[in-house]
Amino acid sequence: MPHKRLSGWGRTAWTVADVVSAREPDAIAHALTEVGPRGAIARGLGRSYGAAAQNAGGTVIEIASESDHEGADITFSPETGIIDVASSVSLDAILRFSVPRGWFVPVTPGTRFVTVGGAIASDVHGKNHHVDGSFGQHVRSMTVLLSNGEVVELSPHQNPEWFWATVGGMGLTGIVLRAQVALLPIETSQVLVETERLGNFDAV
Ligand SMILES: Cc1cc2nc3c(=O)[nH]c(=O)nc-3n(C[C@H](O)[C@H](O)[C@H](O)COP(=O)(O)OP(=O)(O)OC[C@H]3O[C@@H](n4cnc5c(N)ncnc54)[C@H](O)[C@@H]3O)c2cc1C
Repeated sequence: MPHKRLSGWGRTAWTVADVVSAREPDAIAHALTEVGPRGAIARGLGRSYGAAAQNAGGTVIEIASESDHEGADITFSPETGIIDVASSVSLDAILRFSVPRGWFVPVTPGTRFVTVGGAIASDVHGKNHHVDGSFGQHVRSMTVLLSNGEVVELSPHQNPEWFWATVGGMGLTGIVLRAQVALLPIETSQVLVETERLGNFDAV
């Protein structure tokens, strides 16, 4: 396994780990069989500011890469508004797929360049947090690979304790392989803006 220096988006605490690139479930499961005593952690697009997707002296399984934006593994049901998506797919790729079809991601953080796996593991929030909650509230179900090699289906109704431990679990319960996420219908991708310029604050 290649040694690689990694940091978070904040570029502060660099550490070295054995980094394996694996996207398909079989390849991810195989990588897990070869980890040493310091274990393994999943890494999406590395947009966490801190060291969440690092593992000094251990293994990091890179589920996505910067060049992964084409050919996203997404299927969509317009009847239910739910996408079935690989955890490696970025919100950017989902939006490029869904907006022309009239649907939007229900919660978007300040960057679209995060993976579905990272969005679930950090339970990311957007500007609509006070109304719609965080990303995990829109995940209908997910498939997770546990450290013992077992693959489990999780939802708010099926293994709910594991489901909610994985939402916001920072990758510590296992590796999310796929997720089913409810999208929001939109009428248009454009915004109508009216601008009125005023001379000073008193005029507002
Ligand atoms: C410019 C900018 C703006 C941001 N704005 C916001 C914001 O408004 N709101 C907000 O909530 N966050 C925000 N963030 C943070 C970012 O949304 C989260 O850190 C997100 O988790 C990054 O996703 P990622 O795919 O890059 O994951 P990584 O950074 O690679 O990993 C993050 C965590 O997810 C885990 N993980 C990744 N993939 C998987 C997987 N398949 N299975 C299990 N665990 C996995 C990792 O182990 C790690 O613990 C922002 C970040 C940036 C750089």
